[in-house]
Amino acid sequence: MNETSNLTRQQLDTLATELDAIYDDVPSTCCANSGECCSLTAAEMDEGWATMFPLYKAEYARIADHVRRTFDAERSAGLLSVTDERPQRCPFLGENNGCTIYPVRPLICRTYAVMNPATLAEAVERHRDELPQQWLQQFVQRESSMVCPRVMVTQPEKLLRHAYNVITGSYERAMERLSSDLELVTKERRKLIQPLIAGRSWPLRWTWGGYNALCLTPVEWVREQLRKYWRRSQLNDLD
Ligand code: SF4
Repeated sequence: MNETSNLTRQQLDTLATELDAIYDDVPSTCCANSGECCSLTAAEMDEGWATMFPLYKAEYARIADHVRRTFDAERSAGLLSVTDERPQRCPFLGENNGCTIYPVRPLICRTYAVMNPATLAEAVERHRDELPQQWLQQFVQRESSMVCPRVMVTQPEKLLRHAYNVITGSYERAMERLSSDLELVTKERRKLIQPLIAGRSWPLRWTWGGYNALCLTPVEWVREQLRKYWRRSQLNDLD
């Protein structure tokens, strides 16, 4: 076990390999590093948008491990103590607008703006007769909200497979499979937390700050603040 989680080094290494296998289907991209998709405008804050969301539990465990192993003690402690559920600027956005955890960034950041109107139309046409119309509509609606003209796909040969995975929910299922049985904290901490979150299961998707609040805050904070924090949460994916 390590300080970040209840997971052993071997479990974390296996998790990293499994996550990378899922990410490998996503075409790589390059962009102008404007940082616009990693921070929110005032209007987007009002509308309830969030950066780096949804973050799967398995991804959180991997990123937290990466933070501890990669950054110096001060930076690591700062990132692991973030509890803002929906910060206006992603805590991993660097001063030059680059992503400071690029190799382990979550699925949502990898898939953002991969599709554009032309590739969306092509994917819909390809699957029109074989996949449910509703899936195709949801795919177009969701991906259209993430189109960015500054993003360029550098692995276009992966686009068809990627589109199929998004339409059929295959990425989501893989992430849920990796996340569902993952135990992030010790039994003692779970016992302390469970009554404060009304006995609910832990979210499979949440935010960096949300998971930090559950996993890494001091016991006194959990006792005094967690119930209120949980009730006010807008993004934990409870059924
Ligand atoms: S994790 Fe990286 S790519 Fe994702 S929102 Fe944060 S800075 Fe941007």
